[in-house]
Amino acid sequence: MFSRVLIANRGEIALRIIRACRELGIESVSVFSEADKDAPYVKLADQAICIGPGPAKESYLNISRIIAAAEVCDADAIHPGYGFLSERAEFAQACRDCKIEFIGPTPEAMARLGDKVACKKAAKEAGVPVFPGSPDAIEEEAEAVKIAAQIGYPVIIKASAGGGGRGMRICRNETELLANLKAASTEALAAFGNGAVFIEKYLEHAQHVEIQVIGDKFGNAIHLWERNCSIQRRHQKLIEEAPSPGLSREKIRPVAEAAVNLIKLAKYHGAATCEFLMDEKKNFYMLEVNTRVQVEHPVTEMITGVDIVKTMIRVAAGEKLPYTQDQIGVHGHAIECRINAEDPSKGFMPQPGPVNVWQPPGGPGVRMDTHVVQGYVVPKWYDSMIAKLIVHDVDRDHCMTRTARALREFKVEPIKTTIPLHLQLMNDPEVRKGGVDIHWLERKLKG
Ligand code: ADP
Repeated sequence: MFSRVLIANRGEIALRIIRACRELGIESVSVFSEADKDAPYVKLADQAICIGPGPAKESYLNISRIIAAAEVCDADAIHPGYGFLSERAEFAQACRDCKIEFIGPTPEAMARLGDKVACKKAAKEAGVPVFPGSPDAIEEEAEAVKIAAQIGYPVIIKASAGGGGRGMRICRNETELLANLKAASTEALAAFGNGAVFIEKYLEHAQHVEIQVIGDKFGNAIHLWERNCSIQRRHQKLIEEAPSPGLSREKIRPVAEAAVNLIKLAKYHGAATCEFLMDEKKNFYMLEVNTRVQVEHPVTEMITGVDIVKTMIRVAAGEKLPYTQDQIGVHGHAIECRINAEDPSKGFMPQPGPVNVWQPPGGPGVRMDTHVVQGYVVPKWYDSMIAKLIVHDVDRDHCMTRTARALREFKVEPIKTTIPLHLQLMNDPEVRKGGVDIHWLERKLKG
C-alpha cells in the first residue's frame, strides 16, 4: 500500500480523499491555492503545501507545481479527484514520468476513452449501445449531410475532445447543419486544442442514466449499477439518484455488463462512469466515459456499500478488486442534492463570500459531503458547489421524504444557495413520480 498520497484537488472531494486515506492508514498531503489557505479541510491532511495563487491555472491546473509538491513531500501517489487535471492524459503521463502512481487509469486508457470518437468505436466493439451517427470525425460537409439524412434530423454536432457540456450544437435541418459545422470545429479547436467534430442523432426526450464501473490491474472489472442524473440545468447535474426510478434489474443488467466489457477491452483500471441517454422506450445510447471519480459517486456508495474512493486507491496500489460482481447488491434508494452557492431567483448568480450561519442537517440516513464550516468564505475562483447532501432510505418515496426533511434543517446565511430549489423539487409531483427528462428542469424554471 502507498505510504503517502497527494491530493491534487480542493473542496469536498479533497476532504473525501483525505478521509479515505486515513481509513486506509495512508498519510495524506493536501495542496492548496492562496484562496484556500484558511479552509479548515486543508489542515485535516497530514501535510499541506501551497501551490500558488487563486486562479486555477496558476494552482490546481498547474501540472509542474503539483508534481513538484509531490516530490517535495515524497508522495508515492496522486489522487486527482474530479475536474481540474483528473482527465488530462498528460498529467497521468507526468506522474508516470516521475514515478508517482496516478490513482486512475493509464494515460493510454484515458486518452482512448476520453476521446469521444475513439471511445465510441471501442464501445461498439464491446457491445455497448451508442447513438447512430458518424463513425469517425467529420472530414467534409457532404459527408455530414449524407449521414444526417440517413439518421434523420435533429442531429447534434459534438467536439471529439469536448467536455463540460460545451461546444455542442443542435441542428434541425440541413441548412442549420451546414451553418454550424465550421463554427463548431473552429470553436472546438480554440476550446479543446482539437478541431475534430462528429454528429449523432439528437434525442428530444431522454433521461440521463450512467453506469459506475471499476477495474483492477489484473483485468478484473465490475459494475456498481446505475445512477439517474436527469435533473440538470445547462448540462450541470443538480440531483442524482440510485437506482434509476422504474428501471428493472433485467433491463439495466446487459447495459451494465457491456460497460464492464468496454473497460476490460480498454485495459482500464480505476473507477469510470459510462454515461448514457435513455429514451422513452428505455433504449440506451452511450454519451461518453468519464475516466475519474464522479461528483455523484456517493449515491452508489450508499446503495451498494462499496467505498469507491478507497477501492480506487487499493486497485491503484496493485491490489485485486475486493469484490466480485455477485457481491454487489442494491439496497434501498439514495439521492444526492448538489448545494451550490448560487441564487436561483437571480439566474443562479454565484454567491461568493462568508458563511456566517452554517447549520447542516443530520439524523438517520443523512450524509453530508462538504468542506464548509461556519465562518468559511466561499472563494470566487472555483465551482460554486459547497456541499452534497446525500440521503439514503429503504425506497425512493421514503428517501424523498427524508431528503425534504433534511433540506428543511439545512440553514446557510447570508449567501443564497440552491437549498430552497431542492426542497421545492423534492415536493414536486412530477419529480416524485420519477422519470423526468434532462430538459424538464429548464422548462420548469422558464415557465
Ligand atoms: P460533455 O462531455 O460536454 O459533458 P456529453 O456528450 O456528455 O458532453 O453531453 C452533455 C449533455 O448534452 C448530455 O447530458 C445531454 O444533456 C446533452 N446531449 C448530448 N448528446 C445528446 C444527444 N445525442 N441527444 C440529446 N442530448 C444530448
